Amino acid sequence: MKSNEELIGLASKRYGQNFLKNHSYIQKIIQAMPKDNLPIVEIGPGLGDLTKELVRARDVTAFEVDKRLCEHLIHEFELPIREGRLTLKCADAIEHWEQKGLLDEHYHLVANLPYYIATNLILRALHDPYCQSILTMVQKEVAIKFSAKPTERNFSALGVLADSVGEGKICFEVEPEAFVPPPKVTSAVLSIVKFSSLDDLGFEDFLKVAFSQPRKKLSKNLNLRYQKDRIIKIFADLELEDNIRPHEAATSIYHQIYNALKQKDNEDERKSRK
Ligand code: SAM
Repeated sequence: MKSNEELIGLASKRYGQNFLKNHSYIQKIIQAMPKDNLPIVEIGPGLGDLTKELVRARDVTAFEVDKRLCEHLIHEFELPIREGRLTLKCADAIEHWEQKGLLDEHYHLVANLPYYIATNLILRALHDPYCQSILTMVQKEVAIKFSAKPTERNFSALGVLADSVGEGKICFEVEPEAFVPPPKVTSAVLSIVKFSSLDDLGFEDFLKVAFSQPRKKLSKNLNLRYQKDRIIKIFADLELEDNIRPHEAATSIYHQIYNALKQKDNEDERKSRK
């Protein structure tokens, strides 16, 4: 069995291993958790510093992909595992999510995420109807993108998606020195409290087109995929200025444009079947 120091020495860049060693930030994460009793899912418990505090508060299911860390966690958390307060899955969280989901009851996701897959994991959590909220340490730029609001310069497709199903905000920033080894970037704790879940992959595809050139006109981006006269009509119906930029349109506007395009596609399909 390897010691904490040896495991830190072996920290793998491949798995995005930067261990949060500053206890005051761990406490701030615990204080920012939703105040109900729902179980917690943690992705990437690492050496278990955050897990230790989570297990004190709630039932936890934790996914760790690195076998060496798993061995360490099984030893370190023998009692909570035996008592059923901690379920440790030595598995890749993404594979598990795709095959069986993370948990088949309502839960909150609380984690210091591996940064190389943080955006992917947050998007999955926005889709997962069992996930009620997300409280995660991520690279600061990722936190800004998911929490930005319409008209802010950083409002992007990720902001529209988060804003469509929840209320996002940055809780606090964390400097690299709080981690061992320190990452090359500043981090931030992002909170998204969900009121629903994403369920239409077509909407994400539409947003990719809408934000394909973020500083160009929204209409110009949409014309890359959709007929110009359709976009002109939808903009007129919604009383949208032609020169509006992608970050300036509200989340509800994106849904209205998308629904109008979908409705027209459905009508065309019905006509072609007659
Ligand atoms: N939670 C710990 C902490 O706060 O110190 C460690 C966080 S570290 C940034 C990310 C952790 O996620 C590492 O332990 C890494 O091995 C794990 N990890 C990376 N990819 C994973 C995956 N696909 N599924 C599950 N865990 C993963």
